[in-house]
Amino acid sequence: MKILVTGGAGYIGSVVVEQLIEANESVIVFDNLYQGHKDAVHPDATFIEGDLNNRAAVNAVFAEYRPEAVMHFASHTLVGESMENPFLYLGENVANGLNLLQSAVRHNVRRFILSSTANLFDDPERMPIDEAERIVPGSPYGESKYILERMLCWLDQIYNFRYAALRYFNAAGASVERGEDHHPEYHIIPIVLQVALGQREKVMIFGDDYPTRDGTCVRDYIHILDLAQAHILALRALDKGSRVYNLGNGQGFTVKEVIETAREVTGHPIPAEVAVRRPGDPATLIAGSDKIRRDLGWQPKYANLRDIIQSAWDWHLSHPDGYSS
Ligand code: UDP
Repeated sequence: MKILVTGGAGYIGSVVVEQLIEANESVIVFDNLYQGHKDAVHPDATFIEGDLNNRAAVNAVFAEYRPEAVMHFASHTLVGESMENPFLYLGENVANGLNLLQSAVRHNVRRFILSSTANLFDDPERMPIDEAERIVPGSPYGESKYILERMLCWLDQIYNFRYAALRYFNAAGASVERGEDHHPEYHIIPIVLQVALGQREKVMIFGDDYPTRDGTCVRDYIHILDLAQAHILALRALDKGSRVYNLGNGQGFTVKEVIETAREVTGHPIPAEVAVRRPGDPATLIAGSDKIRRDLGWQPKYANLRDIIQSAWDWHLSHPDGYSS
């Protein structure tokens, strides 16, 4: 199948592209390189540098390459930033997604995978969080993804648009060639590994007074290759109907456990210091992913936190300066 991947130069998108190509799919990457890296794009993918806010450019990609499916990763993705600059999210994320959807419909493409988020569940009534949980977006970021999910729901009804919304919990780890390289970096695992590499002095723990087993936040870390597999399975199932899945391992680890595991993996002491809470962080987020296991036979291969951190560490050791090295 020919697949258009927006944001295919970014962390998650680039690994999904790699896995699609390994599965013999044909891939066109559309990315503005705002966060992404040209070197992260698999050499067998067609790369187009462009912005989703440019409707003519988006239409031209559909007209020229005639994709049969779209995977949409290109997005601003930081909860904290969205609380400071909501229009980047409620504006750009939504408008860019809308441009893409309009072009897809216009060019008769009816298969779409949306990268969505656990930030739809700011106030969960049950843990783990399954797809029956009520939606309470935690920030303009989560809201922007929810708006796109709602658009997809209507397009399905009106145009038979088949979509999957995949709500990731904490994507982590690396493939051999591709890993996490954000500037600046906000995510706990790469930050901890930068301390081990000597690029930072210490890691700040954002709050140790949460109602969790050691007072630090609990998150469900999911390996990027397992996430990629979920995209491929969802794509193949689309013709049987639209679907929404929560994606995680169903197991939570505290920030302190992440740091301790990274100490074991790297052999580095990784100094840590407790700081104030980061605004907007819920205490615990654990995914209930039985639905995708049941429906699609999805089975994570790297469910163990140690393996996830080891893969990220291997990538950081081979790319100490990220993609610039
Ligand atoms: N975190 C931390 N120090 C850091 C970065 C993150 O203590 O320098 C914590 C953060 O408060 C959250 C967890 O690590 O509880 C995971 O944060 P991350 O930004 O990696 O992912 P998020 O859960 O926000 O998607």
